[in-house]
This record gives sequence, structure tokens and C-alpha cells, in this order.
Amino acid sequence: MIEQIVLHQKDFAIRSRNDNPLTRLGHLEKLESLITENQNEICKALFEDFKKPEVEALMSEVLPLLKELRFAKKNIRKWMKLKRVKTPTLLLGSKSYTHLEPLGSCLIISPWNYPIYLTLSPLVSALAAGNGVTIKPSEYAPHCSRLMHRLLAKTFKSEQLTVIEGGPETTTELLKHPFDHVFFTGSTVVGKVIMRGASEHLARVTLELGGKSPTIVDNSANLHEAAKKIVWAKFFNAGQTCVAPDYLFVQADVHDHFVRLLRQEIENSFGKSPEAKKSSASFARIINRKHTDRLKGLLENALANNISFLTGGEVDLDQNYVAPTLLDKIPPTAEIMGQEIFGPILPIMTFKDLSEVVSFINDNPKPLMIYLYSNSNFNLRVIMRETSSGSLSVNDSLISLMNPHLPFGGVGASGLGSYHGEFGMETFSHKKAVFKQGFAGRIMNRFYPPYDNGKLGLVKAVIRFKI
Ligand code: NAD
Repeated sequence: MIEQIVLHQKDFAIRSRNDNPLTRLGHLEKLESLITENQNEICKALFEDFKKPEVEALMSEVLPLLKELRFAKKNIRKWMKLKRVKTPTLLLGSKSYTHLEPLGSCLIISPWNYPIYLTLSPLVSALAAGNGVTIKPSEYAPHCSRLMHRLLAKTFKSEQLTVIEGGPETTTELLKHPFDHVFFTGSTVVGKVIMRGASEHLARVTLELGGKSPTIVDNSANLHEAAKKIVWAKFFNAGQTCVAPDYLFVQADVHDHFVRLLRQEIENSFGKSPEAKKSSASFARIINRKHTDRLKGLLENALANNISFLTGGEVDLDQNYVAPTLLDKIPPTAEIMGQEIFGPILPIMTFKDLSEVVSFINDNPKPLMIYLYSNSNFNLRVIMRETSSGSLSVNDSLISLMNPHLPFGGVGASGLGSYHGEFGMETFSHKKAVFKQGFAGRIMNRFYPPYDNGKLGLVKAVIRFKI
């Protein structure tokens, strides 16, 4: 069955090579109607999977998806045009272009933490680029997986788009087939499995992975604003966000004041008492028991190592609840610093000089995101030039992802490749080089054999005069 799907999708992509932009626009419009008409069902599925508050569902799954779609609709004509590029003097008389062609059959494998957005957002790029697409959503968000399956099967023919539900065994089976591109969003560990599988067929891969995104607050920052934005970003989706601030580096002279502000902000957002926080309708649950257990283990380890809890620490395994938690003065060797937290626990470290932060970041795998809260241009330059990360966001958290003019993707352990806007269109296309010689372009004929000293002199002159 999968074999047939892949073959039909490859055929579909071949037919799409010559698409009129209006055809692609039509595909995007169908997806747009599917989302706008089913917003309530989407929110309901997200609530059933992990009690995601409606505001967060609309803000982080529906809104950015529609923005991505509308941006693609607005620009699809431009993206599909043959693009003229410059031609060097030596090739005078010729013209050069790039042309985007569909890759063929693309496999999108998505995670559970933003189950709708992280499945349908790459789909926007894949459809805009004219591909056939197979989607494998995460089994950990079954309501969202089933909903996407039902809605997409109603809207698209299987030769263009198929959803195949299942867990790791399904992905393993899918990877045996000759997809032309595998777009994976998930953990770094599984990313390696995907890359190995894709290599069998020399499929291109995009890996959107995770990791520990540091957040730095220096003594020049607007501390009130920083506390608000960090608390919002860390506890949004109960911390289950690939670009959530994973840990905090606060400059020592503002540490005490800043942690007071963080605690205050947590109370403002979710309530004062542990009971109020637990019953807050603004705070999601952990996706399942396995991940709740993992987070509980990290908290128990912190407790056993006398790490100070500024707030939180409560866990209810039956409800997959972990309270918003601040851990202070974490030693860099603590267990919680050895893995992506992916939950509502924020460890805090202090620094005196920014060089300590730079060294710490550079000694660890390259993060997906670095957040810097600072009003010092000097510090901004230091972090921008002396560290490496997928993105850098200054004085705000999460929202940079909503700018389709910026590529989104990791580097090193946090990923390979990028998407959003035109970057997504390019990720799901082959950029073909097109070169056209004109009658005037005869300069290179002078180098053809038989070779003699004149031709040798000519090559040497081209090199010497940098023509
Ligand atoms: P995961 O890697 O466990 O699963 C992702 C997908 O891979 C799922 O569809 C799953 O079914 C499949 N899968 C799992 N194990 C597999 C295996 N052994 N073989 C083949 N397929 C397998 O990730 P997750 O838990 O769903 O998501 C959380 C991770 O994803 C975090 O690390 C997070 O940082 C990362 N993430 C990254 C981004 C990004 O845009 N860079 C976005 C969201 C999440």
C-alpha cells in the first residue's frame, strides 16, 4: 500500500512541474478552508490530548498556521517564477536563472507538542512547492492525529496527500520506501534514526530538532518585561515547546530582584497557592504519564541534591500535572542540565561576566534558540558573534517564529535545514540551475583544443586579471 502511495505521489509531483500558480493557490485555499472551518474541532482535539487552553490553541496552532498559509498564497506567483541571476564577465553573452521544481513524494513526520501546527505548517510549504505528501503525525496526540487524518482525507486525493497514523514502527516501515524528502520534527535521538533511514534512498532530509535553549538576563535588561516574557514563554503549553527557555542565566547583581519578579509573575499568571495553580485553566498538562514520570524524576533528583525550589515542585501523576517550578542556583553539572527539560521547570544559574555564559553555551550542543534580555549592544554583539544557535531572539521569547521572512531551523544537534515562508518553499523544492548561452557568448570557444601557447597565455591572463 505504501509503495503505491509513494509511486502515485511521485507521478503527482511530475504533473505539478508545469503547474499554473493558480493550481497551487487552489491547494493552499483548500487547506485554509479546512482550518478556518474546523477551528473548534482543532481546539477540542488539543484539549482532549493535553488540556491545552483555547487561547493557547488558537494562538500557537491556528494563528501561525493561517499566517504561514496566507503568506504563501500571497507570494506563490513570485516564488514559482524563473529567477534571473547574475552572470560573470567570462560567460558574457549568456543568461542564468534558477527554477524551483517539486521534489516528488515528501514524508512529513511530526511531534505531539504542537501536533496541528508542526504537521500542517511544513505541509503548506510542501503543497506550495507542488509535491505529493505523506504525513505521519505523532501517536502521542491521538485526537489531533485522528482529526487531521479525517479532515485531510476528505479534502485531498491520496495521490496528493495521505495521512498514515501510527508510532515508531509505522515510521520505520515508511522509511523503507523511496521518498524524495523526509521532513522530521522531533527529538535529536530520533532525528539520527530518521537520517539513517532516509540515507538508504538518498532522500533529502530536514531535521527540526530540540535541545536546551538558554535564556540570558543581564543587568541592563528591563527586568519587569523580561520576567513577564520569560514566564509566559516557559510555561506556555506547560513548557512543552521546542524553543521554550530551557534554563536561565541571570547576572549575579540582579539575581535576587529578578527571581522575586519571576515568582510574582507566576502568581499573576496561574494563581498564588499550589491549589490555585493546579486548577488554573491557563495551564496545560503534560502529554502523558511517561513524560510526567520523567519530569518527576528530575524534581526528585534536584531535591536529593539540595537544590533550592523557589516555587512549585508539585506533581500529580494521575492528572499528568507538574506545577510551574523555579529551581535556583543550579550547578552546571546537575542532572536537569544534562537533557532537554520539555516541561514547566526552569533552572536558574547566575553569572558575573558574560564570557562565562559564552563558554557554557559553546561547551554544549548548539541550541535551537538563544534568548537574550539586555539593553547593551555590546552584549548583543558578543552573544551574536561568539555563540552558535538556530536563532537568536533579543528582548522577547517565542514570537520571532511568526515572522515568515526569517528562516526557522536548528544547527548541529538542534537541526538541519530550515523552513517558513520562502525558506520552506525552497526546502521542499529542487533549485534547478538554468544556463542559456546566447550567440554573443563565444569567449569560452577560445579555450577549446588544440591547445597552444596563445591559449595558455589567455588562461593565465584570466587568472591574473581576475576576469
Ligand atoms: P520524538 O522524536 O519522540 O517523536 C517525533 C516523531 O517520531 C513521532 O511522530 C514519533 O512517532 C516518531 N518516532 C519516535 N520514536 C521513533 C523511532 N524510534 N523510530 C522512528 N520514529 C520514531 O519527539 P516528540 O517527543 O514527539 O517531540 C518532542 C521533541 O521534538 C523535543 O525534543 C522537541 O524539542 C522537538 N521539537 C522540535 C521542534 C522544532 O521545530 N525544532 C518542534 C517541536 C518539537
